[in-house]
Formats: sequence, C-alpha cells, structure tokens
Amino acid sequence: MTNIILFGPPGSGKGTQANFLKEKYNLVHISTGDVFRYNIKNATELGTMAKSYIDKGQLVPDEITIDMLSNELDKNSDANGFIFDGFPRTEAQAEALGHLMDDKDSQIDAMVALEVDDEILVERLLERGKTSGRADDADESIIRNRIKVYYDETAILKDYYQKLDKFYGVDGVGSIEAITQRLSEVIDKIS
Ligand code: AMP
Repeated sequence: MTNIILFGPPGSGKGTQANFLKEKYNLVHISTGDVFRYNIKNATELGTMAKSYIDKGQLVPDEITIDMLSNELDKNSDANGFIFDGFPRTEAQAEALGHLMDDKDSQIDAMVALEVDDEILVERLLERGKTSGRADDADESIIRNRIKVYYDETAILKDYYQKLDKFYGVDGVGSIEAITQRLSEVIDKIS
C-alpha cells in the first residue's frame, strides 16, 4: 500500500490535488472535511455533532474525528492505498492514524505539504466561498480563524513527520498542473 498525507493550511489546494493524484496512483481519497459536510447535509448524528465546530472554524474533537476516519478505512478495506486530506490535524490524530495503519500491516509513507502564503490562502478561500456554498468560506474572520487554528494546533505535525523522516514540502503556488507535477515527483520517489 501507498499511504500519503496531503498536508497544508486551508485553501492550499489539498482537495484539488487529491482529485488528480487519486486517479494517477489509484488511491482512495479520504477528506475528513468532505465526510463531515456529507453528514451535515444528511443531518446524521455525526453531522449534528460536528456542525457547531465547523461553522466557527474550530476543530471537531479528536474522538469523533478518529472514529469517523476509522469507519472510512473499514469501508475501503480493499484499497491500494490512501490519500488523507485534512487528517491528521492534531498529534492525537497522527498517533491514532499510526495505529490504524499498523492494524493493516501498513504505514504512512509520506506527509507531503503544500506551502502557500497566508494572504494568498485568504484570497483563494474568499473566491471559493462565492461558489462552494460553505459557510466557513464565506466570512473572512472565520477563514482567518481556520488559518490560525492550523498554525496553533496542526502545523506541529510537520515536526512529527520530520522526526520520522517522512516530511516533504512542496511549493503550492503555480498552475494546478505544475503543482500536481511537483507532488508526483515526491510520490514517485517514495512509492
Ligand atoms: P476542510 O474541508 O479540511 O477544510 O475541513 C473543514 C472543517 O471540518 C474544519 O475547519 C474542521 O472544523 C473540520 N475538520 C475537518 N477535518 C478535521 C480533522 N481532522 N480534525 C478536526 N476537525 C476537522
């Protein structure tokens, strides 16, 4: 199996790039944000629990998020590998992901991070908000909070995977094709 964490702040292009990479490498794309939004849309219990956090740009608690991720892995037990998008976001999630991979006699092969300046992120997210229908993309203060939460709570995972010698940074500014190419060079090297 090849298991990649696509990392980066909100608006860095993880979802867009994951859509190309999953085809190219035959991997299952799991976006925890997408799974939450699906559950909110369908008014499930999980969706109701997650909504209040998401609307404020805060993280959904680890226990809820880890359980959900574990279910998504179980639904795709025959996968060739995974692209994790938006997960892990805390050290507890990274630890849990390690255990879940162990259970599959597998491992995380790389964290590949898209690096983009904050002001470009805000611009991109406000632009996306015009069509995404996402409440958390529509309001600049919520967008800035999501970026702050990323730096306060999530960015430390760079050190976590660097210590495991699995961290790769990629310039996330440029054309979509150019960025896919940069990411592919990393994935080709490690898989
Ligand atoms: P995203 O689509 O990745 O930008 O996620 C949208 C929102 O869903 C985030 O701002 C969080 O509120 C929530 N979320 C997504 N993934 C996670 C996660 N791994 N841990 C906690 N909250 C998450």
